[in-house]
Amino acid sequence: MYPDDDLLPLSALQHLLFCRRQCALIHVERLWVENRYTAEGRVLHERVDRGGERLEPDIRVVYAMELKSKRLGLVGKADVVEFHQAEEGWVPYPVEYKRGKSKKGDYDRVQLCAQALCLEEQYRLSIFEGSLFYGKTRRRETVSFDDALRSETKIAARSLHELVESEETPEARYFKGCDTCSLMDLCMPKVLPKKSIQGYLKEVSKP
Ligand code: SF4
Repeated sequence: MYPDDDLLPLSALQHLLFCRRQCALIHVERLWVENRYTAEGRVLHERVDRGGERLEPDIRVVYAMELKSKRLGLVGKADVVEFHQAEEGWVPYPVEYKRGKSKKGDYDRVQLCAQALCLEEQYRLSIFEGSLFYGKTRRRETVSFDDALRSETKIAARSLHELVESEETPEARYFKGCDTCSLMDLCMPKVLPKKSIQGYLKEVSKP
């Protein structure tokens, strides 16, 4: 169990699985730059970020719901949690909003699964499914929280803690995903295989 002071943002799992260096730049070096993709994501989240609740027949919808897992060491918010009325009571069903469309990598699914694990810990029940809503296709993709995804999520959470505790920024290595990364200009993966951006900035600003 992680103490409250050691909890890390749940959203960092997505950064970690996309690129460990990006994750360290954001969560160790505290760097952030907005680009078209992050701005589109922000706009897509505007409604859900306002919070609040809505009632539908047999479903209670909660926006921007606070989440926490001491087992995983994560804290954050779910865009939407629908509570579906079932025989055993109200069962949470997380829905995460994403820009673009369904991706090959598991990072969106892992983030959603981490939300489900938080909800399981908070409500002491089992959650078997949730959904990813993609802004480009305007469709929901159902995600099953099977053993493989749960295990991948737990490993990612542990790995996130190890990376942040190490305070080490992995070296830059260019890959196709860099072209969508808002930190590309700071990271310079094609020309600057430096580890720490902060260290590099200190170096170049020396008289
Ligand atoms: S530009 Fe590429 S290597 Fe650098 S942080 Fe972004 S995704 Fe990672």
